[in-house]
Order: sequence, then C-alpha cells, then structure tokens
Amino acid sequence: MSSASSTAVVTRRVAAWHLALAAAPVVIAAYFTLVRLDVLPGTQVALYVSANAAFGVACLYAARRHPALRKFLLLMAGSAAAGVTADVIFYVQALTLDEVPYPGIADAFYLASYPLMALGLLLVIRRRTPGWDGASAIDAAIVAVGAGYLVFEFIIAPTWESGGHGLAAFVSVGYPIGDLMLIMVGARLLLGAGPRSTSLRLIGGYLGLVLVADTIYSIQQINGTYQVANFLDAFWITSGFLLAAGVLHPSAPKLISDSSAATPDATTGRLVVLAVAAMIAPTSMLVQVGLGKNPQVVAAASVCNLLFLLVLVRMTGLVRAQRLAAITDGLTGLRSRRYFEESLGNESARAGRYGLPLSMLLLDIDHFKRVNDTYGHNGGDRVLVEVTHRLQELVRPGDVVARYGGEEFAVLLPNTGPEQAWEIAERIRRGVSAAPIAVTEDRLSRVTVSVGTAGMPAVGSTDELVLAADRALYAAKNAGRNQVAAADGVERVAQPQAA
Ligand code: GH3
Ligand code: MG
Ligand code: MG
Repeated sequence: MSSASSTAVVTRRVAAWHLALAAAPVVIAAYFTLVRLDVLPGTQVALYVSANAAFGVACLYAARRHPALRKFLLLMAGSAAAGVTADVIFYVQALTLDEVPYPGIADAFYLASYPLMALGLLLVIRRRTPGWDGASAIDAAIVAVGAGYLVFEFIIAPTWESGGHGLAAFVSVGYPIGDLMLIMVGARLLLGAGPRSTSLRLIGGYLGLVLVADTIYSIQQINGTYQVANFLDAFWITSGFLLAAGVLHPSAPKLISDSSAATPDATTGRLVVLAVAAMIAPTSMLVQVGLGKNPQVVAAASVCNLLFLLVLVRMTGLVRAQRLAAITDGLTGLRSRRYFEESLGNESARAGRYGLPLSMLLLDIDHFKRVNDTYGHNGGDRVLVEVTHRLQELVRPGDVVARYGGEEFAVLLPNTGPEQAWEIAERIRRGVSAAPIAVTEDRLSRVTVSVGTAGMPAVGSTDELVLAADRALYAAKNAGRNQVAAADGVERVAQPQAA
C-alpha cells in the first residue's frame, strides 16, 4: 500500500472520532431548543437517540477495522441497540400516552443494555491482563464495595422500602444494580495494568458520566422530581458520543494490549481512590447519625468488615511484593546480594549443626569493561542477562545464584564438598564460554568468567568464606582469567560430564 493511502486511512479515523465528539454539543443544543419550543417531537426523539445510535454504528464500523476487537465491539453494539430500542419506546410512549407505563417494555431493553456492556468490558479486561492481576481485582473490589454501599443506602434501600415488593420495585432496583455492575467492571478496567490510551480514557469518561446521571435519575425518581427531558438528557447524550469517540479513536486496538507482566503501582492517586472508597460507609453512618437519622447499621458494618479484609489482603500482597523486590536484582531477576548473605547465614548454621560441607563460588566476568566500551551499556546488560540464563542452567536445584555486584555473581552450594564445588565451577566456566553471546541484534561476542571457590568446614565463618572465595577469584584473574581457583590452592582436574 502506498503511504498516501495509509495517511488517508489515519486522517479518516481521526476525523471520525473528532466528529463524534463535536456532535455532542450540537445535538444537545438542537435537542433542548426543540424541547423548549415544544415542537417537532419526532425530531427530538431522533436527536436524543442519535447518541446511542452513533455509538452503535461506531462499534460496527470499528469492528470491521479491528477484527481483534470484534467480540467486544459487537457486545457494545448490542448494548447500544438495546439502549436505542428502549429510548425509542420510551419517547414514543412519553409523547403519545398521558403517562409512561412503569415498568414498561423500555425498561426491559434498558436493563438488558447493562450486562451486554459489562460483558464487553470484561472481555477487554481479560485481554489486557489474561492472568489474575489480583492487586487490581482487590482495588476494584474495594471501590465497588464502597460505591455499592452508597447505592444500597441511598437508592436500593429507599426504593425497596417505598415501592413495595412488586415488579416496579424489582425494576427500580435493577437500574442501580446494573450501575453497580458497571462500577465493578469499570473500576477493574481503569485500575488494572495496561496503557491509559485516549480510547480507554474516553470509555472511562463515558462510565463516569453515565453513573453520575443514572444516580441523579434514581434519586429524582425516589423524590418524585424526575421530569422527562430534564438536564440529565445532556449527560446521556454526551456519554453516547464519548463512547462512540472512544471506539473510533485510533488507539482503540491498545485497549486489548497484553499487560499481564506489569503490576499497578500504589500511586498517590490510587491510594486516594482506595481511601475514599474505604471511608464511604463509616462516614455515611456518622453523617446519618449526626442528622438524627437511622443509618443502615447492618449493611454499613458488614461493608466495613469486608473492606477491612480487602485492605488487609491488599497490604499482604504489597508487603510480599516489597520483600520480593528487596531480594531480587532488577536487571537479571537473580537473588540479590542481601538474600545471598541471608542464605549463607542459614546454610552455614545448618551445615554446622549436621556436620555437612558447604561451598560457595564467586564469579567475575573477564574484561567486562571492554564489552561495555565496545558495545555500549546495553550490550553489557545483554551479556549480564545471558550469563544469568547460562548460570541458572548450569547449577543444581537448591543452589542459590545471586548477583553479587556489577558483573560478579555468587553461587551457594549447600551440602557440597571442595571437589564437587570445583566440578561445578569448571562446568560453569566452560558453559558460559561455550557459545558466543549476542551483544547487539547482529553481533556476537565470546565471554569468559573467572571463578573462585571456597568451602566449609575448611574455612570457619561466613565472613571468612566470602573473603576466601574472593581471594581465590583474584588468584584466578592473576593466573590469566577464564579459569577456576580454589581457596585452598589445590588444583583439581575436572571430570568431564560430572554431575
Ligand atoms: P576483569 O577481567 O579484571 O574483571 O576486568 P573487568 O573489565 O571486568 O573489570 P571490572 O570488574 O573492574 O569491571 C566491571 C565493570 O562492570 C565496570 C562497570 O562499569 C561495569 N558494570 C557494573 N555494573 C553494570 C551493569 O549493570 N551493566 C553494565 N552494562 N555494566 C556494568
Ligand atoms: Mg570483571
Ligand atoms: Mg568486577
């Protein structure tokens, strides 16, 4: 394809999402003008419905462009179709009947639009983080429980109490439950790992706007202050166009880019969101008591307990992650020097208790500065990572490999005497230099290591053990590099293929 045609495609897509955004104020202005003038009722309906219709059409259009997003977009289109059908039925009834029947057929379609959208968003979440991403799931649960309490206290409970237990009450409660479903899925989507693309932000904007509008709508229904074509229609119209812009935006394919490896950080913004969510129920109880009203004590207390548990689980995860980060080297993923020293202490105590031998190796890459000087720091990093892979293959299960310093590695060999330690050191030395390492995309370099070995009980303390291994390493370097030296100075002959 020529670059001209690909430019044309991009331009058209950009124009489409711009158009969707620009349409919102125009449609709102036209709609409210006709409402005020009380003319052209059919056009009023058409204008109102155009938001959801634009969203549906945008989904179908985008589904053809991005096959990978098809299932998500078709579910969203289904949700839009349900919304449009409901709007048409509602407005036709509002314009032709004295009173819109409630609950009516329109409500069935409105309610159907929630699970379709939630399902679509769930698909997106699955693609963004195919794993569990427990941290985000807990954060989303905290937000949903906090918001859920509010919805319960101010919408569901009063609706249920005032509306009897008939079909009308069920339907009225269905709306806030649908919103709660969207809060849960939306929170999980927005708090989860993955790129915050413009497309995602537009969808987030849609969710925020719809939830605010739906909440005000529910409260007005309870108060009996809701009037057809009030300001809430501006919210709903805007939200439809926001969603249309979201799926039309060129960054839409990024919605499903796999970010399972990334874990969300405990940023200030996130902590504020979680703190607010966790404080909703107790604060609301306090306010109600202060106002001399009866709070929903059972619900609030249950919510507080649940939130406590969720926060504790989340904290446990954070502490574990912190601990893991402290004992892991960022570049190679190996254990850190700190972990090595802890393990050395534990293993030497055990060795002393059971009269077992314990050995360690200290390795240093030969002429590593040259690698950095010739291929740059990135080339050096590649060597470190590849040497790590080779080391991990060459040691036995139970041996501890750590990055001890810049290009120095330490290996702890529990229950291993000097001969066997020498064998392993030789195996590592030969294994590391056996094949050249890719230092850039297209250049290879042969890398060698020098190794010093030392062992207990020949050496008495852990400090002395490390010192002895270091001296042995120094001896190996002095003897010409690419060799193994033992702390006891004994030269051993490596047995080929020894275990
Ligand atoms: P020798 O054979 O005597 O060990 O020579 P050498 O060049 O390896 O000497 P030395 O051990 O002093 O060099 C270590 C170098 O490793 C210096 C430092 O810039 C580099 N280095 C340390 N950490 C890193 C790292 O994380 N990445 C890269 N690319 N280089 C590192
Ligand atoms: Mg070196
Ligand atoms: Mg060094």
